[in-house]
Amino acid sequence: MSEITQIRAAVTRAKGAPFELEEAQIRAPKDDEVLVKIVATGMCHTDMIVRDQYYPVPLPAVLGHEGSGVITAVGPLVKDLQVGDHVVLTFGYCTHCKPCNHGHATYCQEFYPRNFSGVGTDGETAIQDANGKPLHDHFFAQSSFATYALSLESNAIKVSKDAKLELLGPLGCGIQTGAGAVINSLKVTPGSSFVSYGSGAVGLSSVMTARVAGATTIIATDVVESRLELAKELGATHVINSKDEDVVERVKEITGGGADFALESTGRPAVLRQGIDALGLMGTIGVVGAPALGTDATFDVNDVLLGGKSIRGIVEGDSTPKTFIPQLVELFNQGRFPFDKLVKFYEFGDINQAAEDSEKGITLKPIIKIG
Ligand code: NAD
Ligand code: ZN
Repeated sequence: MSEITQIRAAVTRAKGAPFELEEAQIRAPKDDEVLVKIVATGMCHTDMIVRDQYYPVPLPAVLGHEGSGVITAVGPLVKDLQVGDHVVLTFGYCTHCKPCNHGHATYCQEFYPRNFSGVGTDGETAIQDANGKPLHDHFFAQSSFATYALSLESNAIKVSKDAKLELLGPLGCGIQTGAGAVINSLKVTPGSSFVSYGSGAVGLSSVMTARVAGATTIIATDVVESRLELAKELGATHVINSKDEDVVERVKEITGGGADFALESTGRPAVLRQGIDALGLMGTIGVVGAPALGTDATFDVNDVLLGGKSIRGIVEGDSTPKTFIPQLVELFNQGRFPFDKLVKFYEFGDINQAAEDSEKGITLKPIIKIG
């Protein structure tokens, strides 16, 4: 196939610059690639940290990594997907390295280049701007801030045509990160205590999932009161506004000594420190919040040592997306995982408003309607 498709894309041209809607072109799928007409795409904090170059994805680039849509063309090596299939796009992974072979695609040896290098595995971009200049793409093996995206068979997750496709994109990143951290990584147990440091889309997904997992003390922290109110609605038994209270003291008081499980999603080293300090004996904290590359954090060595505490980095909730994303859709359908309560829809032309509302704490999970 050699045809090209005309697209509209939201382009990030410079560090911190607003997204600019531009006409562009994308090449046809080859090998195991699929071309997806994007219906909608979630916006995740990771889009913003890359726009701001905490992670140095080369610019100009088309970001966006929570796309959902309909397959319009497939490459010759695609086996299990067809034109017309509804898919949620998730992170890229190679499928054949040691972690991938062990079912740990989120720690794929090629995770960084496949998601953050701004080019495909062939070293080329698939998108050109109106002047024929390459636009960096393949962001999270998709670049879904566009009317069409190229992804691979492995990271295009087929979902039922009955499901509301425009809602499902965030399952590909932020939502599966919070949910998977609780179920797959921390393995939160019935009757345990769980603290979510940060009540953004990732943190609140972890709160909902801690309830599904049977935790009986679920504490949500944030500095935005409306987020804490929503946390209560979604299953938090207690909330702490970190601006007003001593978080470590309050967590220890509520849990009777310290938490069994915790998840840090603010990306702030000082908050990670609070989370470690407020763990109970043999407690575990998962680290998902992403600061700038090279950021250090501290902990009291003897506190961790004598308390048998664990600190665990987690990518994408340790998800095996082909099974985990359909499981989350089923939990949603059963009313046990109401992630639609986090969402606000925006038109494509309002993408910068969506980013601003997200950063101001007005909107938890923007979804940009595209097609
Ligand atoms: P978000 O901005 O919606 O959530 C962060 C929350 O932390 C906000 O509600 C903010 O008010 C709150 N916060 C700020 N300071 C705080 C403090 N001192 N105490 C308590 N809360 C505080 O972002 P998100 O989309 O939920 O993403 C969360 C983080 O996870 C980001 O850093 C993102 O890049 C990262 N992320 C990581 C992965 C992964 O695979 N590890 C995947 C998705 C997102
Ligand atoms: Zn993300």
